[in-house]
Amino acid sequence: MSIKRKIGIIGGGIVGSTAAFYLSNDPEVELLLFDDGKGQASSAAAGIISPWLSQRRNKEWYFLAREGAKFYSDYMSDLAKYLDTKKIYKKTGTLLYKKTPKLLDKLEKIAYDRRKEAPEIGEIERLSGKDIQEQFPFVTSDEDALFITGGAKIDGENLVKNIHHLLKEKKQLKQTRVTNLSISDDKWVITTDEDSVVVDDVIIAAGAWLPRLLESLNLSVDIRPQKGQLIEIQTDIETTDLPVIMPVGESDIIPFYNGKILVGATHENDEGFDLTPENKLLNQLKEIATQTVGQLADYGIDSYRVGTRAYTSDFLPFFGEVENLSNLLVASGLGSSGLTTGPIIGKTMVDWLYNKKTLFESYKHQPNHYIQPKMKGE
Ligand SMILES: Cc1cc2nc3c(=O)[nH]c(=O)nc-3n(C[C@H](O)[C@H](O)[C@H](O)COP(=O)(O)OP(=O)(O)OC[C@H]3O[C@@H](n4cnc5c(N)ncnc54)[C@H](O)[C@@H]3O)c2cc1C
Repeated sequence: MSIKRKIGIIGGGIVGSTAAFYLSNDPEVELLLFDDGKGQASSAAAGIISPWLSQRRNKEWYFLAREGAKFYSDYMSDLAKYLDTKKIYKKTGTLLYKKTPKLLDKLEKIAYDRRKEAPEIGEIERLSGKDIQEQFPFVTSDEDALFITGGAKIDGENLVKNIHHLLKEKKQLKQTRVTNLSISDDKWVITTDEDSVVVDDVIIAAGAWLPRLLESLNLSVDIRPQKGQLIEIQTDIETTDLPVIMPVGESDIIPFYNGKILVGATHENDEGFDLTPENKLLNQLKEIATQTVGQLADYGIDSYRVGTRAYTSDFLPFFGEVENLSNLLVASGLGSSGLTTGPIIGKTMVDWLYNKKTLFESYKHQPNHYIQPKMKGE
């Protein structure tokens, strides 16, 4: 069989891993995913897939996030042909709290309006504190909330780990850092700590580290890092089918599998790429969560996760081509909703490699808003 196309993907978070998954079975593609596994957002993330009730007004972002959440059902059926997705993704609903009944009214209205175009939201129920305690006895708060059945939880760490495992078996994964990217004879040269590899096409899905990679091409990128911390609490509660709980503030509660509950996350803008956990903030996350799920007070913090989100200055993600650079696709800036939008972004970039039309043609040139040639002295 002739090898027709050699493709290198740099960055194995949710975007790069999804793209790699969709390319990995094409016999006409020779694929390599490069990942240095350092502090990726996808493995640190909370795992909430529930974008419909966000009050962000940007229509393009909402369309992407809505389609991203919808894509999960196809994505999981595709993955299920190769791996066990039971402990990766589950639709168990989302319980959302607001500061006042008036704000909850507003949220309810948004839910009904948005469901017209997004039936994936599922059933919408306004529940009193008493209803909630009856339906979900682990919730102790007596406040009213809105429950939507379409909300889901995704274990980003498990997803990425499983895809990396599949790729490793096919010798398509290089667990190493890319140190330089250059062009020679119309081909891309990817240089790592170990060697150099020449490929036809490159996808860069390096999250917050994109600016460092594009430095070698003398490009500057409008991306900044944001630190996020969350905690893991091991409980005796049967957590698998419990909904995601979004109280007011940063302490979202995500019941995972085998009694594990995640609580988080912080949004810290001045910490750069630092991955040091801060006990004070971690304890605060738990304390606030305890106001909604009282039982959490009975358990200690077992572990923590710290990751780096990538943000553009207008908080919008980008993915697509870069002017004057052929056979290159980049994605970054997924911010705090990248587990929701990451898979559809990865799949869309693969569709572009196959010259397929996608729902996101208007995105194709967007990277040029954020990526510019470096000025002298920069
Ligand atoms: C604490 C926290 C909670 C979050 N919660 C949610 C949530 O509930 N819902 C949601 O939708 N989103 C959430 N997010 C956001 C989401 O996790 C991110 O937006 C998304 O994972 C970004 O994916 P990515 O593939 O673009 O980047 P990443 O996951 O960061 O992956 C980039 C990868 O590229 C690798 N890399 C970079 N440079 C190089 C190089 N030179 N060589 C080799 N490899 C390289 C990195 O090591 C990393 O593995 C959360 C994020 C954090 C940090």
